[in-house]
Amino acid sequence: MIIGVLGGGQLGRMLALAGYPLGLRFRFYDPEPEVCTDGLAERVRGAWDDAAALERFADGLDVVTYEFENVPAETVRILELAGCEVLPPQRALEVSQDRLIEKQFCNDHGVATAPFVPVDSESDLRAAVARLGLPAVLKTRRGGYDGKGQVVLRTSADIVTAWSELGGQPLILEGFVPFDRELSIVAARDRAGRVVCYPLVQNIHRDGILRLTFAPAPNVTAELQQSGEAAATRILAALEYVGVAAIELFERDGALLANEMAPRVHNSGHWTIDGAVTSQFENHIRAVAGLPLGSTELRGVSVMANIIGTLPDVAAVASVPGAHVHLYDKAPRPARKIGHITLNAPDPSTLAARLPELAAVVDLDPSDREGADRVLRHW
Ligand code: AMP
Repeated sequence: MIIGVLGGGQLGRMLALAGYPLGLRFRFYDPEPEVCTDGLAERVRGAWDDAAALERFADGLDVVTYEFENVPAETVRILELAGCEVLPPQRALEVSQDRLIEKQFCNDHGVATAPFVPVDSESDLRAAVARLGLPAVLKTRRGGYDGKGQVVLRTSADIVTAWSELGGQPLILEGFVPFDRELSIVAARDRAGRVVCYPLVQNIHRDGILRLTFAPAPNVTAELQQSGEAAATRILAALEYVGVAAIELFERDGALLANEMAPRVHNSGHWTIDGAVTSQFENHIRAVAGLPLGSTELRGVSVMANIIGTLPDVAAVASVPGAHVHLYDKAPRPARKIGHITLNAPDPSTLAARLPELAAVVDLDPSDREGADRVLRHW
């Protein structure tokens, strides 16, 4: 069986690496001149609306999946007309591509979010600020990622500057959540509707980019885990979802608010390659290939650190017990995710003892280091 994947980035690469041992083959589609799956599998290069190229890609494929959420509806339509099943289903793309639809969808299915108001004009923005109060976060409805396309408003003087920065496209104003911490949950749903969830993890972002993930998040009560799983299960069932999805959450006073959903494998799930019985990548492939899902049980505890901008000394990292390096075959560039490291240990105290060794060889940013120390104290 050949699985088609839209997008040849690192997520596609890790999907293929997880799928080969299952006897599967892969074909990628991506418009870029070079992508990081090129050393690994065949690729058709074409624009997202290039019907001829998409038909060549689709030839002989039963199922197509994707590694990013901004797949145009037209691309899915062309592939379906060419006889391919596209999973996760189109509805998951529609919902996750638009922050307004996404938040409404969450609320409609009993999943709480920050309060929000759609904004299409400067006067809408004034009315929305009057309704939600300040601080608040103005975001583009579509297309934002890694903290781009959003502005925090702190005083009413910020209305004009925020509007001049983002105005002229559909926007959403969200109430600012003074969260205690950022968590996420990764879940998989198979064709029969069975859902498995990984434990809630804790994430540290800086400059809008995920830096560190702690798995499992410390101090998670059974009720909190249950509430995360219930939210994921309801959303995936309502979408008739097949595959892996992630929901980014804020924890505030012991309750969870959903921030956004990714209809794909997620950076906060990379630790599962080394730290769970079945990785998120394997479970995504199992789901779309019609195989039974694998166990999401932990193997010890893990910290995942993204490698951003510069390559680490692989030999030095590999010398740290429990450290696993994953490079994406991408050229280093400032602010570019080019790999990740998972540090795994049988228990939190062993992990805490190993982290300084890792920090010494990967040049962990001091503020991330402090953030990590705060999390480790609670483990
Ligand atoms: P997003 O692009 O929605 O994932 O937001 C990027 C980051 O901005 C989140 O990880 C949070 O740290 C922060 N953020 C987004 N929305 C809010 C909000 N409503 N209240 C507080 N912080 C937020």
